[in-house]
Formats: sequence, C-alpha cells, structure tokens
Amino acid sequence: MNAEQAVAELKARDREIYLLNHCSAILGWDQETYLPEKGVDERAEQLAFLRKLNHERETDPAVADLLASAGADDGNPMGVASLPPLDRAFLRVRWRDYQHATRLPTELVVKIASVTSKARSAWVDARRDSSFKKFQPHLEEIVELLLEVADRLGYVDHPYDALLDQYEPWAKTAEITAVFDDLRARLVPLVRRICDAPPIDASFLSGKFPVDKQRAFSERVLAKLGFETGRGRLDVSEHPFTTTLGLDDVRITTRFNEQFFNSAVFGTIHEAGHAFYEMGFNRDFAGTRLADSISLGIHESQSRFWENVVGRGRAFWSHFYPALRDQFPERLGSVSEEEFYRAINIVEPSLIRVEADEVTYCLHIILRFNLEKALVSRALSVKDLPEAWREQSREMLGVVPETEADGVLQDIHWSMGAFGYFPTYALGNLYAAQFTTALKSDIPDFDAKIGAGEFAPILSWLRSKIHLHGNSKTANELCEDITGSSLSSDFFVEYLTEKYTDVYGLR
Ligand code: ZN
Repeated sequence: MNAEQAVAELKARDREIYLLNHCSAILGWDQETYLPEKGVDERAEQLAFLRKLNHERETDPAVADLLASAGADDGNPMGVASLPPLDRAFLRVRWRDYQHATRLPTELVVKIASVTSKARSAWVDARRDSSFKKFQPHLEEIVELLLEVADRLGYVDHPYDALLDQYEPWAKTAEITAVFDDLRARLVPLVRRICDAPPIDASFLSGKFPVDKQRAFSERVLAKLGFETGRGRLDVSEHPFTTTLGLDDVRITTRFNEQFFNSAVFGTIHEAGHAFYEMGFNRDFAGTRLADSISLGIHESQSRFWENVVGRGRAFWSHFYPALRDQFPERLGSVSEEEFYRAINIVEPSLIRVEADEVTYCLHIILRFNLEKALVSRALSVKDLPEAWREQSREMLGVVPETEADGVLQDIHWSMGAFGYFPTYALGNLYAAQFTTALKSDIPDFDAKIGAGEFAPILSWLRSKIHLHGNSKTANELCEDITGSSLSSDFFVEYLTEKYTDVYGLR
C-alpha cells in the first residue's frame, strides 16, 4: 500500500469515529439538559459503551501499520513529503492521537478513573467542610498517577509538558512560563493602579431581571451576532457549555440568574463564540479529525473574543443598550449607557476564579499553573499546598482566602486529575488579544461596525483566518500565520491598559 492509499484508508476509518463522537455528544447534551433523574444510570452505560467502541477504533493496531505506510513516525509525524499539505496535517493529528491513545496501559486508565471518581466525591465533602485535610490523600494519589502518565506519554524537559500537551497540543511548559511570568509582572501593577482609582458603582446589575426578558434579550443578541438557528440551539443547563452533534448541529447552553444580569447574557455570548468556531470548519474536513479545534486555548480565544473584546466593549453597548434599557426599565431606566459600560467592566481582585474580571482573571490562572508545575516537579508537596496558595494569592491578587473552600478547594479540576488544563483559559485571553490586533488592521472601522450592529464582516474574518482551518495547523502555526509572530503577552497587556485607563480614568 502506498502513502496516498494509506491516508485514504485512515480517513475512511475516521468517519466511524466521527459519527460515534457525535452520538456520544447528543447523549451528553441530553444528560445535561433534559434527561429525567432516573435515566442517569443507563445513560452512563450507553456512554461507556460508545466510548469503548471508539477506543477500539482509535487504538486498532491496523492504524499503526497505515501510519507506517504513510511514512509517519516519531521523528516525522507528517509522513512522506510528497503528500499534499492537508494530508500531511491530517497525518500529524492522527499520529499524535494514536500515540496518546496507546501509550497509557488499560490498567492505568482504569486506576485513574477509579481514583478520580473517589477524589471527586471527597473534594465535594472537603469543600463543604472547608477542610483540605480530607482531600489531601486523594490529591497525593492523583499527583503520583499523573507522574506515571507523564512518564508513559513521554517528555523531554518537564513532566508538566506531557500533561499540558493533553489540552494544548505541542505547547511547552518553558514557553508558557516565560509568557506568564512576563504577563504577571505587568498585570500586578495595573491591578494596583486600578484599585487606587475611585470605585465604580455596579449595584444596579443585581436585583430583579425577569428570566423571560433575559432570554428574549440573549436570543436577540445571538441572532444579531450571526448564530444560525437552523444549525444550532440555545438551552439551559447548570454549567453552560457548547457541544457539537454534527457539522450542522452545534448547541449551546446558558443559565439564568434572576438576581444578576451578567450571567446569562455574557455566558451566552461566550458560548456563541465557541459555537461559531465549531460551525466554521471547512466542509471538506467533515468526517475526519481535521474538523476539530486546534486546542482548548484556541477554542477559548474565540469565546473570550466575543464575550470580552466585543461583548464588554463600548461599541457593542452603544448598539444594544437602548433595547436593553427598554427591556428592564425598572432596573436600568435611570442608568446611562456610560454608567452601564463601566459597571460591566468593574475590576475587583477577588478570591474566586470563576467570578473574576478580565484584568485579574489571568492571575488566578498563573497561580494554579505555578502550583501544578511545583507539584509535578516535586518542588512542592501536597500537604503544603494550602499555604503556597495563600502566599501566591497575597502576592498576586493582594487578597488571602480565610477558608480553604474559598482558596485551594474552589475548583473541581484537580479532583479530576486535570493538571495542565487551567493554562488554556489564560492562553485564550492572550490569543484573543493578539488576533484582535490583526483583525483591526484588516477591519480598521471595527468599532464603527459593531456600533452599527454589523457583525458579519468580523465573523467572516474569523471564519477565513481561524475556523476554516480546523485542526490542520498547530496553535503556534496559526498565530504566526495570522499575526506574524508567536504568542506574546504584549497584545493582551496593551489591550487591557488602553481599555482600563479609559474605564477607570487612570493617568
Ligand atoms: Zn469557554
């Protein structure tokens, strides 16, 4: 079999995996939205069955033979040079996924599933009682297992590289450390300056905002942004998410809080950003793993671009605020557009990551990134984690949690063994800002377009530059192609400095 035939066969095999993934997605979507309480057990069995079918296809030894026929190996995952570039990009992803799926022995995977399942319920109890001691032995076991995972997956410089790579393919700990250290050095003084400025009143964002009106407004925004209701839908779930059930079926969820305006609208815009990415893959990629995102960081760049750069921008509300005020006259009747704009951009160093504003958010991430790295390099032991957390929080955010529930126990990620996941949230902010700079040079009247409610040129720029390419590039290749340079914190820091100098009237 020659290389071309091998690629064709691998793509044909991808079709079944693709269909199985979408079948799992609909079961998962239903579980989070409409599944009756008592259906949970059988649903878990259905999902596990599909996962097994998928795993068999991902790890079929015939895949190794086909990859070898196409010339893809450790030193050259893209295969023989004579293949078309998109086939070589496909091979790179197929080779990588095969390594990931086959390097971890089944016993280790089963062990991790059992340890993290117990850890998750221990974490729930520990958080309720605000007692890290109850979670500590579970986390110790998880760290040991993750070190074994890192060894099995393989790394050159740092065991954290192997963990990070699961969520942010090809990213390197040393590169991210350099970018984050630089970001931290420049964010901390900016936060201090903002804290010294006169505070902003955001009290009118809390109070009664009837859910039906919030929903109507969210749907209006979605339609205007270009969310195609013939190819997706909006539902309600406890934790908002986006899921892809097919090339023309991408669903998002949101949650409504009657007492707080921000949750539903900004959550909906955020998920719409994820959905636009999933709806925009090249149709020629359908049925293969190229019809996928590059990484969690790039995915998050799309949601944060729409939520923060667009949705928390002045131009956006110069377009939408009159309609919003008409919807909620009791709450916003006497609030000016400027007061509203400043209130949705309030900055307050706080203890809880998920409630953080866009200026302090990355500091929460850098804190977790530093601690995860220290744990897997054994520079920090699990028992000393709460104290290390308090110290970093004091240094970076200037606040110290009084309880462990509000500190080291606040996130679910570590109980799931998801080390290397957190950095992708901050990478999303950085990529979003860097891409925006390129977007604005191609669309100089960016703000005027938003102010006029013209979002189509912006969406089509993202489509052609990012979405269309699916998973055919690495994050770094994409960033270089769009912006001419690799990831840097410069663009995000400039964006924040310019925006918040204005919002807070800094000098
Ligand atoms: Zn997101």
